Amino acid sequence: MATNQGGITGPLAKKRKSSGRAKGGSGHKGAVQCSRCGRLVPSDKAKKFTKAVSAVEPQIARELRQQGSYIPVHRVTSYYCISCAVHSGKMNIREHSERKTVPSR
Ligand SMILES: [Zn+2]
Repeated sequence: MATNQGGITGPLAKKRKSSGRAKGGSGHKGAVQCSRCGRLVPSDKAKKFTKAVSAVEPQIARELRQQGSYIPVHRVTSYYCISCAVHSGKMNIREHSERKTVPSR
């Protein structure tokens, strides 16, 4: 029986079940650019972070909102490559035994 340990007869070892992507059986996926280093990353591999950004400072915005004014808040989406996401602390490296599973959100 073939094992996943690698070697002459068995298939090569796979670090992650998904190969670090969400591609599945589909073919080519478009690339996005990393917001930090500019690297081209497949869109299903890149880490997507959405952040609410306001032009007004939070202290002033809170006071204005209490007075009943509307402060527009924009959502800024940024994509990170895996290296940058780990380096900037946005995600953590998982333990060896955890890597084979799909993380729950
Ligand atoms: Zn990057």
